[in-house]
Amino acid sequence: RRAAYAALRDVAPTTRDGHRVTVMVNAGLRDDVGALDVTGADGIGLFRTEFQFLVSATLPQRERQQRLYREVLDVAGERPVIFRTVDIGGDKALPYLIQDEDEENPAMGWRALRLALERNGLMKAQARALIEAAAGRTLNVMFPMVSEAWEFAEARDLFEQQRAWIATRNRRLPTEIRYGAMLEVPSLAYQLDLLLPQVDFLSIGTNDLTQFLFAADRANPKLAERYDWLSASILRFIRSVIAPARAAGVPLAICGEMGGRPLEALALIAIGIDRFSITPAAVGPIKAMIRTLDRGAAMAEMERLLAAPPRDLRGALSVWAEAQGV
Ligand code: PEP
Ligand code: MG
Repeated sequence: RRAAYAALRDVAPTTRDGHRVTVMVNAGLRDDVGALDVTGADGIGLFRTEFQFLVSATLPQRERQQRLYREVLDVAGERPVIFRTVDIGGDKALPYLIQDEDEENPAMGWRALRLALERNGLMKAQARALIEAAAGRTLNVMFPMVSEAWEFAEARDLFEQQRAWIATRNRRLPTEIRYGAMLEVPSLAYQLDLLLPQVDFLSIGTNDLTQFLFAADRANPKLAERYDWLSASILRFIRSVIAPARAAGVPLAICGEMGGRPLEALALIAIGIDRFSITPAAVGPIKAMIRTLDRGAAMAEMERLLAAPPRDLRGALSVWAEAQGV
């Protein structure tokens, strides 16, 4: 199997009926970036910048951040890299940054963009590190845990202020800065009319989205089996975002773990998703699935399943996939 997946490295993930799917990888540390060449992925769709903070005993200074970002961009070359600004706080606490937070519900707490907009010195330094690292290239920045459209606007303004400041110093700037939001808090889906005109891309984080949609802690093993990614709620939720994003010309990707599982990815393609950022180990299996899939037939089947969902949607879809030879 391994060898079969390796053989897919240079083969494009195209469905049997000719639809090219974009398959990128998730990364977070310098060493993860090698996965680009190993897997033949289309880029890094989620670079979790907080990893550098989490593995460090002290706050990584701007120069150190910048060095990492530049190295990542150097390896990626022409392939796009989407840097997600730090998603810390909550259960990803940093002792050198936050000492006195004792939150009852850290996942729903003072974390990610909420923290970054209030303690904005941290994000200003990160903005400068990213902008300077991407001098002469395209910079893709993505904000985590956006719950309302204004939060995105505020974060983008902070970056734009840093860009303007760097410009006054006559330093070389990125050729372009593209800004995106993670859609992982359900409230944001009800502000798409406000958000879509502002963003260059969107990425659905299914790990947090599932936890918030089902009110089910993603870290609680008692709940792990209870809520299935292949449920009508999640698939209908994601499906509801696709048409507005397409109408606004905003690329929409999936970057949570759901997209790295073949049957889940099949279901996502069948509702119209065609961009994924997944864990590197999943690229082979997902490419193999895509190349055996008839997307048109899958769409028709999913339409049927979501119109009157069976209790065991996973079982029904898996029977269908098997019959199709996927
Ligand atoms: C997600 O929430 O789905 C996601 C991709 O981000 P993280 O797992 O880092 O929270
Ligand atoms: Mg998340």
